[in-house]
Amino acid sequence: MGGITFDYIEQYIKGLICEKSDILREIEEFAHKNLVPIVQKETARFLEVILTIKRPAKILELGTAIGYSSILMSMYANENSKITTIERDINMIEEAKKNIEKYGLSSKIEIKQGDCLDVLKGLKDKYDLIFMDAGKGHYNHFLPECLRLLNEDGIIVADNVLFRGMVANDELVKRRKITIVKRMRSYLDIVSKDKGLITSVIPMGDGIAVTTRRKIVDE
Ligand code: SAH
Ligand code: MG
Repeated sequence: MGGITFDYIEQYIKGLICEKSDILREIEEFAHKNLVPIVQKETARFLEVILTIKRPAKILELGTAIGYSSILMSMYANENSKITTIERDINMIEEAKKNIEKYGLSSKIEIKQGDCLDVLKGLKDKYDLIFMDAGKGHYNHFLPECLRLLNEDGIIVADNVLFRGMVANDELVKRRKITIVKRMRSYLDIVSKDKGLITSVIPMGDGIAVTTRRKIVDE
């Protein structure tokens, strides 16, 4: 399966998760049919929990794809929450717009077209939650911009940080993925070792890393 945890554990956890509303299911089916990499079930559930606890007013997402995680987050955020989501692929954006409209969420979710790094550099607002889910090989490059845009109490949730297990084990690394793996390790090193940050890496889905600013510095 995902190469992150034991298959039987993954199956069991997935089995606990109840089915979504019809339209979300439609988007899930479209994603599976067209090989669009939307968040895994258990990661989606984790996001729902974080959002329910955190109630972020402003959310930034890197990687819209067809809008699945944006719609999901928007359903679990505040009434007045706004999501800004970045995507470079125009076909994905078109599909995302259709889905977002179906949910009547066009006024809450704004898609910015372009490469994440370029778009990030142009942003000025502060965000309460940043969901990093695009360009696995560039999380370490996105990080400084994300920290600049992160509210004092903000949270960064980064998806796919264990990348099918490759990040944790050289023997699993496919040759053409070496650069991605090295850069992802660099991302995890930075967020884990920076004294101003606190990070929890969770072997769930394809691996997630939750980072926030450290309030208590323990030497
Ligand atoms: N968050 C989505 C899935 C995103 S998949 C969900 O769970 O529903 C990752 C998306 O990021 C893809 O659509 C891909 O086109 C886009 N992407 C990859 N690298 C990017 C980059 N550097 N800038 C902008 N978009 C990027
Ligand atoms: Mg992902």
